[in-house]
Amino acid sequence: KAAGKRTFRLFCTEMEVRLHERVRLEAKLRAALADMDGLFLYYQPITDVRTRAVTAREALIRWHHPGRGWISPAEFIPIAEESGLIRDLGAWVLRRACEDAASWEDGARVAVNVSPRQLGTGTLASAVLDALFASGLSPDRLEIEVTESALLGDEKAGLADLRRIRDMGVRVALDDFGTGFSSLAHLRAFPFDKIKIDGSFVRDAVQRPDCAAIVGVVADLGRRLGVTTVAEGVETQAHLDLVIAEGCSEVQGYLLGRPAPRAADLPRIADLTAP
Ligand code: C2E
Ligand code: CA
Ligand code: CA
Ligand code: CA
Repeated sequence: KAAGKRTFRLFCTEMEVRLHERVRLEAKLRAALADMDGLFLYYQPITDVRTRAVTAREALIRWHHPGRGWISPAEFIPIAEESGLIRDLGAWVLRRACEDAASWEDGARVAVNVSPRQLGTGTLASAVLDALFASGLSPDRLEIEVTESALLGDEKAGLADLRRIRDMGVRVALDDFGTGFSSLAHLRAFPFDKIKIDGSFVRDAVQRPDCAAIVGVVADLGRRLGVTTVAEGVETQAHLDLVIAEGCSEVQGYLLGRPAPRAADLPRIADLTAP
């Protein structure tokens, strides 16, 4: 019994510590957003396999926490989602990404990730409109990336939001294809402009014929639907050869370019990472 009590107390303490850490992280993120301090966008090229031209760059958020250093979006995006901060964060990402893209001389599009929580509230369309208006970027140079899970909650409202932005001339991509549920139903429900094949399939495909087959079938599907297919997570020449052989039209991954900050942020980032 005594041991049980101790275990229980230990469990509570652990939960408390985790909760406190989370609350602290949320407060710090809120402050970063208010002061626009420590938040950056990195950009990763997406390349056409035939022309080798960069057709788009994906904006990937980075956060330098004052005490902990760089924290992965995989850790702080969920906190932003649960705390409601994602709305302001998402609006900032859209605005900054459109502003940056407006100055790119090659005319590449900018791809922006949108969280499930930004969909279905009716506010995404106005955030997109604001960002386009403020930056002067042409709508056809903006691409919105949504994952399948974004469409699972309030599916109808989510699709209505996407339709609204697509009607503005903005392109919509289905991200992480193959990792969620009822992928084909989503392709039927919405005219996506692009399908992004999750990097896990690409990386496994070299060793596993079944994964290569999946990549090939999705590329065929894209071709028949008239949709661009992007292979994500291309890290090696072997990955690249394989996804080209399987018929993907565009590629993204460390082999072609790692996410990198814009030149204007380089001095500030060098300061942050200095010992
Ligand atoms: P994602 O949208 O699937 O983004 C691709 C992730 O794969 C990025 O991780 C990118 O850095 C990484 N990556 C790119 N090429 C390679 C490669 O060759 N190999 C491997 N192993 N990884 C590669 P990152 O930047 O850590 O972002 C993680 C996730 O966080 C993103 O996954 C996206 O879901 C989310 N995220 C990032 N930025 C934003 C944002 O501005 N808003 C929202 N809502 N989510 C974001
Ligand atoms: Ca993405
Ligand atoms: Ca992805
Ligand atoms: Ca992902």
